[in-house]
Amino acid sequence: CGIVAYIGNKDAYPVLIKGLKRLEYRGYDSAGVAIMNNADIKTYKKKGKVVNLQEFAEKHDLSGTIGIGHTRWATHGEPNDQNAHPHISGDGDLALVHNGIIENYDVLKEGLKARGHVFSSETDTEVLVHLIEDIKRHEKVDLEEAVRLALSSVVGAYAIVVLSKEEPNRIVAARKSSPLVVGIADNNEFYLASDATPIVEYTKNVVYLEDEEIAIIDRESGLKIIDIRNREQTPYVQQLELE
Ligand code: GLU
Repeated sequence: CGIVAYIGNKDAYPVLIKGLKRLEYRGYDSAGVAIMNNADIKTYKKKGKVVNLQEFAEKHDLSGTIGIGHTRWATHGEPNDQNAHPHISGDGDLALVHNGIIENYDVLKEGLKARGHVFSSETDTEVLVHLIEDIKRHEKVDLEEAVRLALSSVVGAYAIVVLSKEEPNRIVAARKSSPLVVGIADNNEFYLASDATPIVEYTKNVVYLEDEEIAIIDRESGLKIIDIRNREQTPYVQQLELE
């Protein structure tokens, strides 16, 4: 339902929790964050309000300058801690948040189970993170390419943001039929969200991703956009209206 993500030089968690609160108006049943630090990813998720997540998360280590957050509106699987996002790949390498519905998730899930994948939630979303993991391992490709190939076999609507421990300085995001906005701030800081509300206080410079576009945001090289057929796109930077 709601997505917020950050990569930059300050701690991600305060941006994420504040952003999730700004997205509360959309309605949701659970919330979660994943924060990457020193090639490790810590994930905290809770049923209920963002403040439930906050109380839980703030008892733990929240340091890290790359992070993703989500408020869930359950479509597949009841609202509980386990079905809340972010979802983690079987090998623990990937963390992913998703808005929308993967319509062919049951077919994909059967195929992945046959290849040895074990699932820990009832969501359509978890299929996506296992699919990306599977492609990354078997095709020996990087995160960007694994996401692109995975999305080529997905039917449905999605806005996703993915982290990989093996690529500790980047975020990969994509969308189709579900909105995703990239906010570009000074000092190579980037914000991502399902709408501009969590971004507007940090920057007015935004790029609205188009359907079937993939954004790769790297700490060093900044923003790159490709489409699902691997053609590089020129980011169209717009100015948000002052509120
Ligand atoms: N279909 C996913 C789920 O049920 C995502 C729902 C959403 O957009 O929040 O977990």
